[in-house]
This record gives sequence, C-alpha cells and structure tokens, in this order.
Amino acid sequence: MGSGQVTDWQGKNVTVAGLGVSGIPAAKVLHGLGAKVTVVNDGDDARTRAQAAELEALGIAVRLGDGATLPEGTELVVTAPGWKPDKPLFTAAREAGVDIWGDVELAWRLRGPDAAPWLAVTGTNGKTTTVQMLAEILKAAGLRTAAVGNIGVSLLDAVLGEELYDVLAVELSSYQLHWAPSLRAHSAAVLNLAPDHLDWHGSMEAYAADKGRIYEGNRVACVYNVADKATEDLVREADVEEGCRAIGFTLGAPAPSQLGVVDGILVDRAFVENRQKSAQELAEVSDVNPPAPHNIANALAAAALARAFGVPPKAVRDGLRAFTPDAHRIAHVADVAGVSYVDDSKATNTHAAEASLAAYESIVWIAGGLAKGAVFEELVAKSAGHLRAAVLMGADRALIREALARHAPEVPVVDLDRTDTGAMLAAVQEAQRLARPGDTVLLAPACASMDMFANYNQRGDAFAEAVRELGAGA
Ligand code: ADP
Repeated sequence: MGSGQVTDWQGKNVTVAGLGVSGIPAAKVLHGLGAKVTVVNDGDDARTRAQAAELEALGIAVRLGDGATLPEGTELVVTAPGWKPDKPLFTAAREAGVDIWGDVELAWRLRGPDAAPWLAVTGTNGKTTTVQMLAEILKAAGLRTAAVGNIGVSLLDAVLGEELYDVLAVELSSYQLHWAPSLRAHSAAVLNLAPDHLDWHGSMEAYAADKGRIYEGNRVACVYNVADKATEDLVREADVEEGCRAIGFTLGAPAPSQLGVVDGILVDRAFVENRQKSAQELAEVSDVNPPAPHNIANALAAAALARAFGVPPKAVRDGLRAFTPDAHRIAHVADVAGVSYVDDSKATNTHAAEASLAAYESIVWIAGGLAKGAVFEELVAKSAGHLRAAVLMGADRALIREALARHAPEVPVVDLDRTDTGAMLAAVQEAQRLARPGDTVLLAPACASMDMFANYNQRGDAFAEAVRELGAGA
C-alpha cells in the first residue's frame, strides 16, 4: 500500500483484527469509505456477539472465535494495538506481503491534506500527564488543540471529525508505535525508558526500538531526557528531516539546546535567540502540579514540544497553571491523624513507583499485584531509605517481599496473603497501624491491578474508600 495517503478504498479487502475500542470505529470508518471489511476476533462471548451483530447490521463481516487465520483475499490488516506481533495472523500477512497497520497508522493515513501537525509523546511513564500539560499550554497560546491518542479522544475521531485543530497533542504507546511505520510527527518526545511490556515486545531492545519510531521523520525537534541516556541514543539513531534539532530536558541547569531548572525556575536555553549566552524564563516550579521531580520533568518535556511549535513563554506558564492531574496519579486522598494518604494506583510498573517513592520522605508503602515479568531489586534498593514499612498484597507480592528481605531487611513488612478486593481495606488498616504522624501512606503498587481489580481506577477508588472508612472511625 506504499507509505502515502490511500484515497481509493472502494472494494478493498481489509481485515480488522480485534473487536475493541479501536477495532469497531476502524471497521465502521473503512466500511464507510467503501472497503470490504472483515473483523476477526479471538473471543466469542455475549458481549462480542452483541458488538458483532451491530457491525453485521451495517454490512460488515465478523468472524468470532478465530483471530489467528488471515481471511482469504486480505489486502490490508488493521490491528488493535495490543495484538502481539508474533500472532499467526500477522505471520500469514507478512508472508503474503500484506501491510499491517495499527490504529495510529490508520489515522495518520486517513488524515486530510491540511491536517493539523502532531506533537507526539511516548515513554514508559508520564505520557498522559505530559500530553495533558502540552494541550493546556497549546490552549493557553490560543491554539485549537486536543489531547488525543492513547487517551481521551481517539485519533481517528480527531483526524476525521468535524472539529478543526491547529495542532494535536498525541499520546502514543509502544504498541501503537510498533504498528505505525509511516507516522511523521512535527516534533516528539520520549520521556524515559524502563523495562515494561517486555513480554509483548520480546526484549528491551525491541521495546526501545518501537519507542524510538516516534522520532522518525520529525521536522522541528526530537525531545529527549538528559537523565536517561537511552532516550538520547534513540534520537541519534533516528532518521529525521534536515534541520530537526535534538532538545534535552533536565532537572538541573540546562546546557545550550536544553530546557532545565535554575533556582526554582523552569528555563529554556533551546528556543531563544542566543542560546550560548541567554535563557528564557518559562514558569516556576510551583506552577507545576504536583511539583514532584518526575512531574517537573514532564512539564519540561511538554514545554519543549510547545516551544518547538512556537508557543510564547507566557503560554507555558499559563498552561501549566491550568493543568490538573488525572485521578490516581499521586492524588492526595486525605490526612488522618497526621498521616497523609496518597493514591498513585497508576504506578503500575517499578519505574513509576520509584518516582513516587522518591517524592516522600517517610512512607508506609502499599504495593503488589501483577508483576508482568518485572523485578523489584532496583526499586527496593533505591527506595529503602524512604520506607517506614511495607504492606503487600496481590498475586506477585512474594517477589516484592523477597526484594525487601534482600535490600531493606530492617523495613517491617506485612504480607496480607490476599488477592481479594477486600484486601485493600485490610492493607490501609495495617498501614495506619504502622504509620507515624508526618508519614505518607502511599499506594504505589509497582504492579498491574487485574489480579484483584478491574483496572487501576478501581484499585485507587478502593484505596480512597478505605481511607475514608479510617477517617470516619478516627
Ligand atoms: P502514562 O500515561 O505513561 O502511564 P501517567 O502520566 O499516566 O503516564 O503516569 C503514570 C504513572 O507514572 C504515575 O503513577 C506517575 O506517578 C508516574 N510518572 C509520571 N511521570 C513520570 C516520570 N516522568 N517518570 C517516572 N514516573 C512517572
């Protein structure tokens, strides 16, 4: 299918892999363009049957219970981003020379000739926060924009909808990038790189390479994290447009072509007239909410992308002030008897948990869940000095318990030996018992939630509910 816009979809045989949040709209859009769409899906339950019936009523073919076989005559596969690249369907497509696009690639190919440029963000952690900060900054500059992608508005809606945009703030996951070979952003940032989803990508190298795709063909700036050399390496390896610049962000004083922090002020030494000699003040650290170190890094990355797009300094400050974080991301729930309770249920991997454990001095840490192949040695070793105690629950809690025994043997540990939803109340009660006034009880599980909860939102809600019960009893 080449790498450009596809204008004639009439009668094209397209297989949509996955009946889900991206598959259903993709199937409808392609069908609307005249393509002959077949949706294939592994699962075959009551919910998927209802979804299938809805599509079939429109004239879209659906094959439930067999996501492995490539339908005869397929000319293009459009896949849900989460489908693993080693699935037999993809092997068959590759052997037949059939292109495979993800949801992002489809949106990219379907956008119109005057489409808004994309400012793209990826990284192991901080994507949603950074993209939301970026959208606020762009809005503060008077630009028509939205935070889209792996968050809120779908990319397909953003590129095909009625709404007109000047620029899009796009969050991209490593899966989406894997399946988006021809995406070319105006500018892009990789916030950080730590092992995550390795079972999907196969290796750290493959994971990094997929993240690095975000820089391919950038026109103005490739934004990297000075403290995370792997992100800078990805910039070096990328094939970008002539004149595109590498821009670093750092929590320290910035070198030329970097954004950083000087005396509590976020400063830009990249998008200024004379970057050897001068720097531009953008905002104060206290304008960032919450002003935890990792979040200041997110703000700097967002500012770098906005500045690459030509946004004035004042809009960076106004946008950062306007930003409020989503739920379950270092959210302060309550103070009970001098102890602060903080919900960072979104810390679903060790790298995120490490950032939030670094943000507090003395912590009773509630952790555990599904480890997704992670190891906890480094996290525990680095965070030991901040731990008053730990309360563990969930399927893979033994891994954390063993890491604590090795690297923080003096830290008291309560192993709840539970994986039921009610364990959260018990965990919070144990934490209350262990905490002293001035401490923070921090839910930063370093694990996924699906062993005990529907998702991290429900886990965070359960924590907040338990804290409220404590408060009521206090
Ligand atoms: P993502 O969209 O990448 O999952 P979020 O902004 O939703 O990122 O934050 C996810 C988790 O990562 C939160 O628990 C937060 O505390 C943590 N986090 C946010 N930014 C960073 C960062 N720059 N480095 C490390 N951890 C971070």
